[in-house]
Amino acid sequence: MKIRTRLTILFTFITATILLLFASVIYYSAKKNREKDFYTSLKKEAITKANLFLNAEVEVKTLQEIYHNNRKILNEVEVAIYDTSFHLLYHDAVDLDFVKETRPMIDEIYKKGEVRFYQKDWQVIGLKFPYKNKKYLITAAAYDQYGYDKLNSLLRTSSFVFVISILFIYLAGHFFSKKAFEPVTQMTDKVKKISATNLDLRLNTNKNNDELTDLANTFNEMLNRLENSFDAQKHFVSNISHELRTPLTAMFAELQLTAEKERSNEQYKKAIEHIISDTQKLIHLSNNLLDLAKANYDSAEIAFKNLRLDEVLIEARNDVLHNNSSFKINIIFEKDFEDDADISVNGNEYLLKVAFANLMENSCKYSNDKQSTVAVSFDKEGIILRFSDNGIGIAADDLKSIFVPFYRGENKTFTEGNGIGLSLSQKIVLLHHGNISVTSQTNIGTIFTIQLPHL
Ligand code: ADP
Repeated sequence: MKIRTRLTILFTFITATILLLFASVIYYSAKKNREKDFYTSLKKEAITKANLFLNAEVEVKTLQEIYHNNRKILNEVEVAIYDTSFHLLYHDAVDLDFVKETRPMIDEIYKKGEVRFYQKDWQVIGLKFPYKNKKYLITAAAYDQYGYDKLNSLLRTSSFVFVISILFIYLAGHFFSKKAFEPVTQMTDKVKKISATNLDLRLNTNKNNDELTDLANTFNEMLNRLENSFDAQKHFVSNISHELRTPLTAMFAELQLTAEKERSNEQYKKAIEHIISDTQKLIHLSNNLLDLAKANYDSAEIAFKNLRLDEVLIEARNDVLHNNSSFKINIIFEKDFEDDADISVNGNEYLLKVAFANLMENSCKYSNDKQSTVAVSFDKEGIILRFSDNGIGIAADDLKSIFVPFYRGENKTFTEGNGIGLSLSQKIVLLHHGNISVTSQTNIGTIFTIQLPHL
């Protein structure tokens, strides 16, 4: 069931309950008032008749005639007067005698002074009436036709108004909820049109600072992120294809050229060396891509443990030197650490080693002296690592882009690479809730600073 329908029904139900409660209270109080008023008029009638009989000494026959005549047009009150010994002194209509008085009833009236009760739908009142030092007991009874008619008419009108109101409230609720949900319907229609091919579509937002505008803005922000990541994904794939094609084309050309005619041993050796070099590039690229994929995992899927960073740095240096024996890497500890916690982080050993090795390799790669210096320091918050070199530096314009996957600076001609290393290092650092920054001056050198929080 749609929220709109649910809300309308709920709203109608609540209003119906309130209306019903309200109408019930009114009906109940009207019912009580009718009963009270009728007892009062019964009492008045009883006293008047007693006065006519006892005081004005109107003849019994006359009184009975009045009763019988009135009965034809009104619901005349039937009155009976007794003395305290239960002797009937007067009765409006012995033939009808609706209230069957009994000795206990008369005694009760005498004892209580006044009793009120129902006999079928008739209301009866019993009174003790003192007159000239004697006590008389009167009963008066009648059916309140007029009161019941009024009550029934109130019930009919209320029921009719209730049904009409509920119908009206339901229709009004339906109409207003449709109006209120119109922006949501528009959003749904628009969102249905958004697909991978038109991620540039955005939801309309208005100036109202309401929840729906918030929702539309949040959705638009999500679309921005999606569009960016879709674009990045597209570039990523085309960059990978390009990076793979370059060495593959070189290898193909080399092999084709060599196969064209008979070559000397020397020439075959040279061609094989070229192909080995291109193969190494491909291996390096696929390793980088594999690491990038690992660094893109959800941090929940990556095993973190307590690590001493000095040990990870030494392993990273060994790896770099193993592949490039001409490189030189110095690790300097700027501060003496007193216990393991000073130099430890909660991290993934493999990924941190990859990040450090990339920075060490870059320092050596982009320097004539092929040297990298890693300065290690720490404070209460975390560990600070500075990877510096006295190399060719990075052009100021390139600084903002060097962490973008596959981006290579204008100094790329100095050495070979694929532009993945720095973006990979940055991803790894961010995964460890750390921070990486760079300062560089062309022909003076470059410093990459990494801050990693302790455990
Ligand atoms: P690459 O494979 O090109 O080295 P990276 O992602 O490691 O890719 O680096 C991106 C770019 O940043 C490099 O192409 C280069 O222009 C620049 N760069 C990175 N480190 C240094 C450095 N130590 N000295 C000079 N330039 C650097």
